[in-house]
Amino acid sequence: MINNNETKNQNHLKLKIEEYDSNNEKNLYKEELKKNYSKEDIEQYFELITETKIIGWENKLFESKISVHDFENVADPDIINEVSNDKKITRLIKNDIERTRVKESIYMPNFNDYVYQLLIYYINKNDVIYKQGLNEVLGPFILLKYKLKISLSRIYKLFVSFVDKFSTNYFHESDFYSLRSSLSLINLLLRYHEPELFHKFEHRLISPDLYATCWLMTLFANKCSLNVTYYLWDKLILFDDNLFPHYFIVALLIINKEKYIGKGNDFSTILSILSDLHIDTIEEVNKIINLATEIGDKTPNSLYLLSNRLEIFNFNSNNLKNLYEQYNPDKMFALPIFPNELFCIIYQDLFSCPYEKCKNFLKTKNFDLSNCIYCRNNELKKNIKNIIFDIRIFEDDSNWKVSEEFPGYLPCTLRITNQELRKPNFSSNLINKYNTEKDNYHFIILTSETDNFQKFEKQFYKVKGRRNSKVGVNYKGYKEIDINKVKEVFNKRGASKKEYLLLKEFDNFKKLIDEMNKQEFKYVSYVYGGYKEVHLNAMKYKIDLIEHGKKCFLCKEQNFNSSFFKFW
Ligand SMILES: [Zn+2]
Ligand SMILES: [Zn+2]
Repeated sequence: MINNNETKNQNHLKLKIEEYDSNNEKNLYKEELKKNYSKEDIEQYFELITETKIIGWENKLFESKISVHDFENVADPDIINEVSNDKKITRLIKNDIERTRVKESIYMPNFNDYVYQLLIYYINKNDVIYKQGLNEVLGPFILLKYKLKISLSRIYKLFVSFVDKFSTNYFHESDFYSLRSSLSLINLLLRYHEPELFHKFEHRLISPDLYATCWLMTLFANKCSLNVTYYLWDKLILFDDNLFPHYFIVALLIINKEKYIGKGNDFSTILSILSDLHIDTIEEVNKIINLATEIGDKTPNSLYLLSNRLEIFNFNSNNLKNLYEQYNPDKMFALPIFPNELFCIIYQDLFSCPYEKCKNFLKTKNFDLSNCIYCRNNELKKNIKNIIFDIRIFEDDSNWKVSEEFPGYLPCTLRITNQELRKPNFSSNLINKYNTEKDNYHFIILTSETDNFQKFEKQFYKVKGRRNSKVGVNYKGYKEIDINKVKEVFNKRGASKKEYLLLKEFDNFKKLIDEMNKQEFKYVSYVYGGYKEVHLNAMKYKIDLIEHGKKCFLCKEQNFNSSFFKFW
């Protein structure tokens, strides 16, 4: 999709340059605007802006590390005279500026020059390629000058630290891996909080890269009137949470869903309605912020752990591509829960933060709710009710009976009997049992392992319900295990009973996840890495597992490389 966008952008670029050449009407347009909007009309957009407010922003934004930028050398950019050597880029930027905050800037002399100067300055200083969206973020900062006596160097510092905080790598990275990671998080969030909508989008092949890219890149500036932009950014700065824009997008989708999900609305209709969404009033934005806050409060801390592992907001990361490929957030079955968060849920007396590097990680008497976002969230999540389904199947059919090889289990888990797990309709049986509780619990699925099953999926799964969509792409449908194919592959190389069981377990897991989504179960997640990862971390932190056998096969296995067949 990103590639499509790139081609689109290139076409867009060509178009814009042509328009620029023939665009002599822009001044006329501005004169026309002045007739319709008086100075007083424009001043309404700045009600929130005061010197005190800006000092507040500076304090909040500068307190987090912004050391990556050398502000000492931004001594007096009021007289910067930067130039770009790339004429094509210069034109593109100038054209974008012609479209930036046109109405709100009609009474501000030099608005375009200031935006141009600071954009070029930013690009040269950071050695990045200009990306559209940056102009939309800079515009409102430049317009502060309309209301306040504020130097360009102050504006520049505010702008840079704001961009660093909320769009850290989006503008700096040529391959967009951090942006892709962010978009995957949005999809996981949507699936977690609004399975119905997720399902409808998936059915119509609508993915976040198609609707959320410009929301993230402009931090909603191109969707909001100027006063609403200031209001929303003020909240963003105050909340100090770089995942908040992700919650905001999911909230925006939910609140407006009646507008675009109607009978007969197809792929392109929905997308065009979504791209036309605007937020014009403070009431509207408050409504979205409230829902976004609620979404954030109900989201497991592991989303932060995941964004941390993907280094989306690590400015110095040079590992974004590898991490994206390692975790594959785009292919995750549901929101993953990392073992550390599971420990926080189960062993509240032992852990007070899921983040290993936090001083509150292991519970001590002097727990202080410092400015660790994981601690803060962990406190919030204490009232959420969790059900942990342990769906591991064991070779000897022991039904959780103790044996010396048994790897143990976690307390507070619902261990499903092996007889039940081997039934063909296991997933629907389980779902029917919990159907009435589906909005009250967070369901966590625990399997043996969970790594990358994708390559086996192709071998073992047949696709059911394939159909062609209107845009000519095959809809994937639901996947079911193809036992004949399994036999074929296993016969060729020989397979153990254990492998069959792992495959059955994975099939159970897939069916459970898919079925729960179809039945609109909210709050479904799975343990990342499965029991294998839980066991590994339990050993690391010296946690006692229940019925942990003396000759536990996981303890043994950890000394070897894993076998050829990985269920994960
Ligand atoms: Zn912490
Ligand atoms: Zn063990």
